[in-house]
Amino acid sequence: MSWVESANSPDTDFPLQNLPYGVFSNNEETRIGVAIGDQVLDLRACAHYGLLSELPPDAIEACTQESLNDLMAQGSETWSVLRRQLTALLAESADSAVKSRVQPFLVPMRDAQMQLPAHIGDYTDFYASIHHATRVGKLFRPDNPLLPNYKYVPIGYHGRASSIVVSGTAVRRPCGQIKTPTETEPTFGPSRSLDYELEVGIFIGRGNPLGEPIAIDRAEQHIFGLCLVNDWSARDIQSWEYQPLGPFLAKNFATTISPWIVPMGALAPCRVPAAARAEGDPAPLTYLTPSNAARSGIDVTLEVSLQSEKMRQANITPVQLSQGNLRELYWSLDQLLTHHASSGCNLRPGDLLATGTISGPEEGSEGCLLEMKHRAATLKLPNGETRTFLEDGDQVIFRGYCQTPGLPRIGFGECTGKIISSSSTSV
Ligand code: MN
Repeated sequence: MSWVESANSPDTDFPLQNLPYGVFSNNEETRIGVAIGDQVLDLRACAHYGLLSELPPDAIEACTQESLNDLMAQGSETWSVLRRQLTALLAESADSAVKSRVQPFLVPMRDAQMQLPAHIGDYTDFYASIHHATRVGKLFRPDNPLLPNYKYVPIGYHGRASSIVVSGTAVRRPCGQIKTPTETEPTFGPSRSLDYELEVGIFIGRGNPLGEPIAIDRAEQHIFGLCLVNDWSARDIQSWEYQPLGPFLAKNFATTISPWIVPMGALAPCRVPAAARAEGDPAPLTYLTPSNAARSGIDVTLEVSLQSEKMRQANITPVQLSQGNLRELYWSLDQLLTHHASSGCNLRPGDLLATGTISGPEEGSEGCLLEMKHRAATLKLPNGETRTFLEDGDQVIFRGYCQTPGLPRIGFGECTGKIISSSSTSV
């Protein structure tokens, strides 16, 4: 329990046991903050006023920056010390002198404008859900949906970091080259099949030197924390451009992330075994085999909801489109990270790796609209509108949380974006 009352509410995403990190602005200043209930604890003020005394001087300095990169570079032992100290400052058991010193550094969340939490040098997107890969593969290759490498290699591609935006930023419908199967020549114009992809992001903490891979059992020490990711995708642009080198302009116009990075320490009670491989599947190669797969998975429920412009005008609350779970991934987060660095590729503090669309096996757990095409009818919204893909004015909302019985919910907050119309119909 915390002396910050709102952190004890059963429906908060941010109890004392979570303490996710973000970067916020208010009064024209940008600082690192920690979410607690409906408040944000100003970490710079805590550092300046001697409240982070257990940290070494360079770690205290890292807490005063305008991005999380320096704190990420400090490494997992420093993060644990900081987490322990923050817990002590905010716990109900803190003595009243501490409470009165911390109280002035709490900012109501509604007054905090959230920013990107880190300078993201590089962004990589994976394809780690076998259910997503199979459903999408079926659309193109009904008899042979999974390519032969899928069960051996965590498939991914290098994405675009410059167009990553924080939750709440409007997303402009992209223009691009489109050629439908019935057309003989492509045309250039606004995408007509704009989609979302429900994903989880891994923020890299301490990196690795170029040429030095990261052993699978050490992978997690390099993870600073997790966020939600919406990898917006223009399916019509994608289907024309993706061969032979993979996604390009269909994905690089915007990627939305949630502002709060949930530390791995907060997710400790949510650990579960890695998803079981089907009988007959090959075992992962040795470099991708952790010594303890019993804790490789993370039980995070993930939800997608949508509110159209007309629903908003009629005060109809967003409708849930799907629910999935991070634990269903074929490749675990440590496998993705280790595979990425296995060539000797250097990961750096603040780099972002995303899982790829997270889908489950059953209907209702599809992590993107493309996968719902197999459903008989198009998607019906509560006011009678239908959707095959996103329309202008649609707001897409992702939520994620880990709910272990008897423990407070560890939530991710929201990852939202609203589609606005394309700037032009031709260039
Ligand atoms: Mn993706």
